Amino acid sequence: MGRKCAVCGKTAQYGAVVSHAHNVSKKKRHPNLHRIWAKINGKKKRILVCTKCLRSGKIEKV
Ligand SMILES: [Zn+2]
Repeated sequence: MGRKCAVCGKTAQYGAVVSHAHNVSKKKRHPNLHRIWAKINGKKKRILVCTKCLRSGKIEKV
């Protein structure tokens, strides 16, 4: 399991950073993930969730 949201499956995104002098370097951007306790099927479990899913109330906190 990599660093991925347990609800929406959001993972790192890749892109290029271009400087003013047009130097291009690769950039990896991670989603804002938080390891929280959540209630899944009546059981509490520690899952990795992105802040977007946390805010929208897609998980039930314990
Ligand atoms: Zn998510």
